[in-house]
Amino acid sequence: MPKIQMKTPLVEMDGDEMTRVLWAMIKEKLLLPFVDLRTEYYDLGLPHRDETGDQVTIDAAEAAKRLGVAVKCATITPNKQRMTEYNLHEMWKSPNGTIRAILDGTVFRAPIQTEGIRPVVRTWEKPITIARHAYGDVYKNSEMAIPGPGTVKLVYTGEDGTRQEQTVHDFKGPGVVQGLHNLDASIASFARSCFAFALDQKQDLWFSAKDTISKTYDARFRDVFQQIFDEEYREAFEAAGITYFYTLIDDAVARVIRSKGGFIWACKNYDGDVMSDMLATAFGSLAMMTSVLVSPDGIYEYEAAHGTVTRHYYRYLKGEKTSTNPTATIFAWSGALRKRAELDDLPELSDFADVLEQATLDTISEGTMTKDLALLWDGDADSVTSEEFLDAIAGRMEEMLSDGVDVEAEEFETEFETVTLVDDEGGEVTCEIVYRAIRGEEEYAVLMDEEGGALVLHCVYDGEDENSYHFEEPDEVTAESVFAEFEEEMGEPLEDGDE
Ligand code: NAP
Ligand code: MG
Repeated sequence: MPKIQMKTPLVEMDGDEMTRVLWAMIKEKLLLPFVDLRTEYYDLGLPHRDETGDQVTIDAAEAAKRLGVAVKCATITPNKQRMTEYNLHEMWKSPNGTIRAILDGTVFRAPIQTEGIRPVVRTWEKPITIARHAYGDVYKNSEMAIPGPGTVKLVYTGEDGTRQEQTVHDFKGPGVVQGLHNLDASIASFARSCFAFALDQKQDLWFSAKDTISKTYDARFRDVFQQIFDEEYREAFEAAGITYFYTLIDDAVARVIRSKGGFIWACKNYDGDVMSDMLATAFGSLAMMTSVLVSPDGIYEYEAAHGTVTRHYYRYLKGEKTSTNPTATIFAWSGALRKRAELDDLPELSDFADVLEQATLDTISEGTMTKDLALLWDGDADSVTSEEFLDAIAGRMEEMLSDGVDVEAEEFETEFETVTLVDDEGGEVTCEIVYRAIRGEEEYAVLMDEEGGALVLHCVYDGEDENSYHFEEPDEVTAESVFAEFEEEMGEPLEDGDE
């Protein structure tokens, strides 16, 4: 199979701990065998961030600005304990925070849905994407404990000396007070990222706040969204057949629960923080949540929503094989490759992204999955290590990418019987007969290996008993060559219905 070509490199941001281990495995098993992968590599692993004084994070963000599409592995945000663990020069800031600040983007989080893991809310048929405003409000607040009776005021002093003053509260006893702020520029970028992403996804956009209570603060959010929509996006939304609407946060919550899903819900900072955790849990698991940072000028950075899975990494360091779920990280790669394909007009690369996702979902829905999912699964699940899971996906991808023969074969899978094959070395393989043709004394069959269902073998029946099939050069035979060989020998193509 020739490798799929790329034009422009992706910005690749490597990371830490268990996700760094998975990152390398995903590349080795799922990407490099199929794609002539071009990336501009930045090592955002904590040791390298420390060595470069965190310059590498800034360089990576600048590269994303230049190239337009990035894929990022989860990274450690250092705290006190990490300072000693990694012997750091400084407690570096969160890389995601730094990148977000440089790209001025909004984070969209969407669950990956699979058959067999039902959302808690039965009506949800499609994913719900949360867009969380990532600036200001309670996350940049200023708060104070009030010791006793007294007055708290909001005071604004303009550069030109103008003054506004308002009483917050006349305290008769002790209490607390908090000051919040936001910026028109930040709200506007948030709005533009949301409108751009809704158009990209062809999904409706909802925005919610509490403007009935917060008549100046939340009302500003509502008005900025509405103005930008009317002036810049209304026509494009109409052309795409999607809608934007604003509603109160409490009304939005009620509608979300009753909905079928399949839309983007833009939330203020705090609402988005809370609601995204609720949605992740209700849809299944944090390990199945993707995250994409979209800047108002259309730069995309894809990643998994979860962290570096430290607990699993410590077990990995002790030599254990862990069952860490790589799905969200795989979808970060497929998302980035699909976006690159769209920008560079590479339909083959875009198809590859589809195959990568489909092979992952099929592997899960047919019962092979990591431990976290097996716990949520209704029915019999085969709980495997990360490596086994990735191997199963790779097997499926090979099958799907080899001329589409797999799709035909799958349709007949259950109608035919199973045979056990013994090869020359005495190894046994159980196979399903997907095509069979009897011609004269000989029987020809195309069999599918059950382990991962990936292999198509050419076998010859020598007429002894039901198990007397043998391999013919199984290593060199491809599905295509089996069909071609059959046709050559029999003078007609192998067809459905040949019995
Ligand atoms: P975490 O890495 O998301 O893991 C928390 C727990 O969730 C894990 O211990 C595991 O539970 C489960 N889990 C998460 N992802 C999983 C997966 N792919 N497969 C299976 N189980 C999964 O969060 P954390 O432990 O709070 O944070 C660890 C580090 O990640 C921190 O240093 C933090 O700074 C960083 N972080 C980075 C990002 C980012 O780069 N985007 C985001 C969040 C956190 P069990 O142990 O019960 O199996
Ligand atoms: Mg949260």
